[in-house]
Amino acid sequence: MDNEQLCISCKKNITNMAGVVVFNCPSCKEKIIRCGNCRAIGAKYSCKCGFTGPN
Ligand SMILES: [Zn+2]
Ligand SMILES: [Zn+2]
Repeated sequence: MDNEQLCISCKKNITNMAGVVVFNCPSCKEKIIRCGNCRAIGAKYSCKCGFTGPN
């Protein structure tokens, strides 16, 4: 298996992390993964399509 799941903000492997959210980019529908920590601190993310935000 080679489907590593990395937080889009901190690039950490989110396996075994709590509070992870997975959603689709509002712009390009690409899958976005954020870990609980980055959500808690409001870390920014940027999708490869150029979309950025805390939402
Ligand atoms: Zn993170
Ligand atoms: Zn996108």
